[in-house]
Amino acid sequence: MKIHGRCHCGQIAFTALIDPQRVVACHCTDCQTFSGGPFRASVAVAADQVQMQGQATEYVKTADSGNARVQGFCGTCGTHLYATALNDRSTLGLRLGCVAERAQLPPVGQVWGQSAMPWLPELPATPCHLQGPASRLRG
Ligand SMILES: [Zn+2]
Ligand SMILES: [Zn+2]
Repeated sequence: MKIHGRCHCGQIAFTALIDPQRVVACHCTDCQTFSGGPFRASVAVAADQVQMQGQATEYVKTADSGNARVQGFCGTCGTHLYATALNDRSTLGLRLGCVAERAQLPPVGQVWGQSAMPWLPELPATPCHLQGPASRLRG
């Protein structure tokens, strides 16, 4: 499936050919911190299947295990774009939050459930406005 990614300010964009069966939601604490959200969804893809336009800023995070992961983001607007291994860039994990087709790409699995937000399962049952807080509730 062809996907189209774009950061919020538009300086960086990408297209990629991905396998929807490789979409995963990660609940690790690093993904929570980087994304500002309760989890982060990504799709793993061979780097040669990705066309990147624009120059991402990179931050290398080192896990407790010593594993170093490159985090690519837009240096202007901060949108998360991809992650890859420091010493082997043959596979990219593209961040679904900036992908136009994300609504059609449900995760097929989840990792790091031990740090998943305990309130996530209850979220669908809480009041949900269709737009801002003054708007109609979802039926
Ligand atoms: Zn940007
Ligand atoms: Zn994670």
